[in-house]
Amino acid sequence: MGTATGIIKALNSGIKHLAIKRFTLRYPEEKLKFVGDGYQFDPSTGVGIAGIKGRHMLFHDHCTGCQLCSIACEGVAEAIAMVKVPDNQTQNKKSIMPQIDYGKCVFCGLCVDACPFYALYMTNDYELSSFSKEGLIYTPAQLAVKPYVQQDSEIKITDRGATHG
Ligand code: SF4
Ligand code: SF4
Repeated sequence: MGTATGIIKALNSGIKHLAIKRFTLRYPEEKLKFVGDGYQFDPSTGVGIAGIKGRHMLFHDHCTGCQLCSIACEGVAEAIAMVKVPDNQTQNKKSIMPQIDYGKCVFCGLCVDACPFYALYMTNDYELSSFSKEGLIYTPAQLAVKPYVQQDSEIKITDRGATHG
């Protein structure tokens, strides 16, 4: 009796789910699209701007080389090294900028919160896999390039739950 009831319940559940749209994505053919440009922080108001915490974006013309991002990361992951850059930015007397090792980064965003000069944000780029450890280290020059993000499947919230287009 118990087995029969179990089978009926399982069939019932299966039939119900036939009418529900699949939620899982066929990655990498389908990629989830996120709202906004990624996590940012406004130091003047002390407020974070919600967004996905993906690969960072470094604005060389704002970075002063103050190292606050690196100090913020020290107690978390030690993913940031301050390295010499060839740029001759007047606001950056030491010509040093952050280099990020994504083999160590935990995407907490504390480095973004620590930057007082609007120089470091995060983006929607979450595809950072590499065949080597070195390939996970992003130099200041690489971080300055806006990532090309192609994501097409948007999440839709309906009264029947979340789905995607
Ligand atoms: S987001 Fe990454 S680099 Fe920034 S503080 Fe967190 S672990 Fe360090
Ligand atoms: S990114 Fe921001 S916190 Fe980091 S060194 Fe540059 S200005 Fe300072």
